[in-house]
Amino acid sequence: MDNCLLCQPFDLDDQQIVLENKTCLYIQSPQHQLILEGSELIIPKAHRPSVFDLTQEEWNDTYSLLADAKKYVHRRLKPDGFNIGWNCGEVSGQHIPHAHPCHPSFCG
Ligand SMILES: [Zn+2]
Repeated sequence: MDNCLLCQPFDLDDQQIVLENKTCLYIQSPQHQLILEGSELIIPKAHRPSVFDLTQEEWNDTYSLLADAKKYVHRRLKPDGFNIGWNCGEVSGQHIPHAHPCHPSFCG
């Protein structure tokens, strides 16, 4: 989708792709832009309006990246816990219509 911020994650300044598999990306915004250190996103490479629109393969790849992301964040920050969630629909706080977990710099 041409005007979707998350369909072109490379267009965001200093956005880094940390991990990747066949259908999904694990991306990290510049840490100085974050309200909560360690907040990152797992997004499908294809445009999917919400998490309910993921294919089975994308769900599997999301799960796989989530497990890898947990190890990555734990190694870096050793957090006591994690918050994981998706806002689905504008009234629920989803401001970018491309499936992504709630992210303080996007949803805050
Ligand atoms: Zn998109």
